[in-house]
Amino acid sequence: MKQIYAFAEGNRSMRDLLGGKGANLAEMTNLGLPVPSGFTITTAACHDFQAHHQLTSSLLHDLDQALIDLSQLTEKKFDSTTNPLLVSVRSGAPISMPGMMDTILNIGLNDQTVIALARLTNNERFAYDSYRRLLAMFGNVVYGIAESAFDDILTKIKQQQHYQSDLDLTAADLKTIVTEFKALYEQSTVGRFPQDPHEQILTAITAVFDSWHNHRAEVYRQENNIPDTLGTAVNIQEMVFGNIGDRSGTGVAFTRNPATGANVLFGEYLLNAQGEDVVSGIRTPQPLNTLAETLPHLYDQLQDISNTLETHYRDMQDVEFTIENGRLFMLQARNGKRTPAAAVKIVVDFVKEGLISQNEALMRIQPELVNSMLHASFEAQSLFDHEIIATGLPASPGAASGQVYFTAAAAKEAHDNAHQHVILMRQDTSPEDIDGMVVSEAIVTARGGMTSHAAVVARGMGATSIVGASALQIDEIQKVAHVNGLTIDEGDWVSVDGTAGNLYLDQLPTTEAAIDENLAQLLVWAKATAKLGVYTNADTPADFKKALAFDADGIGLTRTEHMFFKPERLLQMRRLIIAEDAAGRKDPLAKLLDMQQNDFYELYQLANGKSVTIRLLDPPLHEFLPHDEVELHQVANQLEIDPEQLRARVTSLKEANPMLGHRGDRLAVTFPDIYQMQIQAIMNAVIRLHQEGLIVNPHIMIPLTDSKTELAWVRQLVVDQIDAALADQHWTVDYTVGTMMEMPRACVTADQVAEAADFFSFGTNDLTQLTFGYSRDDIGSFLPAYLEQGILPADPFQTIDVDGVGALMQLAVDGGRKTKPDLPIGVCGEVGGDPASINFFEQLGVTYVSCSPYRVPVARLAAAQAHL
Ligand code: ADP
Ligand code: MG
Ligand code: MG
Repeated sequence: MKQIYAFAEGNRSMRDLLGGKGANLAEMTNLGLPVPSGFTITTAACHDFQAHHQLTSSLLHDLDQALIDLSQLTEKKFDSTTNPLLVSVRSGAPISMPGMMDTILNIGLNDQTVIALARLTNNERFAYDSYRRLLAMFGNVVYGIAESAFDDILTKIKQQQHYQSDLDLTAADLKTIVTEFKALYEQSTVGRFPQDPHEQILTAITAVFDSWHNHRAEVYRQENNIPDTLGTAVNIQEMVFGNIGDRSGTGVAFTRNPATGANVLFGEYLLNAQGEDVVSGIRTPQPLNTLAETLPHLYDQLQDISNTLETHYRDMQDVEFTIENGRLFMLQARNGKRTPAAAVKIVVDFVKEGLISQNEALMRIQPELVNSMLHASFEAQSLFDHEIIATGLPASPGAASGQVYFTAAAAKEAHDNAHQHVILMRQDTSPEDIDGMVVSEAIVTARGGMTSHAAVVARGMGATSIVGASALQIDEIQKVAHVNGLTIDEGDWVSVDGTAGNLYLDQLPTTEAAIDENLAQLLVWAKATAKLGVYTNADTPADFKKALAFDADGIGLTRTEHMFFKPERLLQMRRLIIAEDAAGRKDPLAKLLDMQQNDFYELYQLANGKSVTIRLLDPPLHEFLPHDEVELHQVANQLEIDPEQLRARVTSLKEANPMLGHRGDRLAVTFPDIYQMQIQAIMNAVIRLHQEGLIVNPHIMIPLTDSKTELAWVRQLVVDQIDAALADQHWTVDYTVGTMMEMPRACVTADQVAEAADFFSFGTNDLTQLTFGYSRDDIGSFLPAYLEQGILPADPFQTIDVDGVGALMQLAVDGGRKTKPDLPIGVCGEVGGDPASINFFEQLGVTYVSCSPYRVPVARLAAAQAHL
């Protein structure tokens, strides 16, 4: 088995074997980009290691050969006192796990080679700077000596010498530091720092393989559903040095702006620095555009490489680079993490630039991303009224309020135990904070740039974030932050505007988001591509307006009962219900007619020709009645009747199983005047709009149908009422009468039901409830256990149960279309907006889905993807 691949032997398709980093280093090497030479030890070797708990002899053998090859390629040699080979040992799993695994730089340095390096470069300061870095990284990663032990020594010496920055350290200081760092090894259980480069490299490789199972890596994998079985590869790469002087440096760049998607090189760099300095927050990095002034030819070269990479990978890249004495080297490339808004802008721009096709653009955006793009922002007025207490970099957009915690553990505890909305506020974050970051509404740091750990992780999770808000002085021990004379205590509310980068005290009101031009463009393509129509469930004009702004095709479901819950209507509804007979129902029905016809008028007017499907009254009557003694007396009072009389009526309406009781079209059979009123209200609206010049074709939907005979009975009632309403008009109306498909019996006999129906619309909520026999209002007590035990793969009320409910739907579609080949069939339950379910509905041959207004864009994209 080949366990080691030179960079020149690999390519990007070998990600599983070489890890993401290794595969892309190979790809860049073969593209002819300036990549320091090296090789990759495969993930298969990692599995071998895990199985044997040690590096196998065959791997050791191959490694020797690989190092000989590398020596030849670089013309440098391990342990040479004239021209020593130095390498980095870098972990890299098949799926990028930012900051999760460990990397060690400058391997190969020891008490002898450091002198050689100093002589060779004529730069003693640089040589000892590299050595002290190796000692600290190696001690920490391999032997678990606390990072702070090394930091403390560094800080002590800087203080003694009154230095501001690491850059002030002289060669002599660095030598002292090296001596003290080595002493740390001697004080620890380790005993000594291994001077032999071969021993260094073997211990480092072992440490990287072991780090696959460290705590932060496991949390990250769990959080991101990355299988534990992947394993990591290890890359061994010749060092290049950004810490030689002011014509050297190191940086990170995105080929486009990861927050907005703008097509400009975006990133940060530090001169005279190495490796992680940029992301660690030790020194504040420079924005990349300043490189265009300081080292313009390098900036241009980086821009060229950026273009090459984008054209080659056909995606935005996140790269690491190092400049050694004015020469640029590429050290990593991967698909860059980005905000949802940036993701959409980038694919839309790529289509315009001819890099990808429209269909590819549609397929690249996860529908749920679109959901998170409909980000809230703070109300403009409240922003005006509140003072900005701190400003930082807008690392991840959105608007979030919550209670402040200064450690990841405290944030997690407040979230898990007190169900608080939490904001994690820290000096900076590190991979250890991951537990607390995933539960936070927003992450705020005092230090760090747009590519700091906090920023990258927040963008990846879609959490709001501000980083580098340097006015914040955070004391995590005292649990307090000070900012310009103000104090923020643990648990205080703050509001974080991640779009502008501003921090406020208190909880600010938010406003809902709108669709930006790029998303609008993507949705236009989605609409042109999708076969399924996307309608909305809207009970009020306000809902419908929202959905229309999201370009809904119309209304797939108006639940008329929701119109009855306003106070003045509830009163009439209650009068209606307690009435003993038809005569008593007359007056409340007349009042309801008046109100309801206006609702319909408004909906039809908004629709302006788009289809609107109105479902007649569905719920059990007792839902409208008082539920306890206090309410009973209030209602009796309001209705001006004796409480006892009301109590008697309530009792007589009581049902053991209301959801399976006197509701839906069963009400129409016992109280035909209620549906008659609703039809009249619809027709009054239609007639009024006709007079105003707008033709409306009403679609009327009957809930809870069990059989053809039942539907035919109710249909006749509807038709008669429409005829009556139009009796004195000299024109006619095209209308349809269809049914909800939500009773298993109706699905099984769909060929018959279709004879009386002009359309079907699946009510998946009730259909799921009746298919499983789960009361949808009571599943909370057992569903979590079912999900945990794996008895159910998902909540069937959120994602369609294909095998059971789906099979009934299939029967209904087949039966209905047997009778009427062109029968329109919709889905208007909760799952109508669920991407996985939409995929299934496309296969079923459903005509349209209908979902809540905010799901319309998500459903539209999912519908396009389902068809591609
Ligand atoms: P991570 O996956 O945590 O980013 P990396 O393996 O990419 O870890 O390395 C950490 C840092 O060290 C990066 O900034 C990288 O560019 C730098 N680095 C790694 N190998 C080399 C090398 N051979 N020469 C110079 N810098 C290197
Ligand atoms: Mg890296
Ligand atoms: Mg229903």
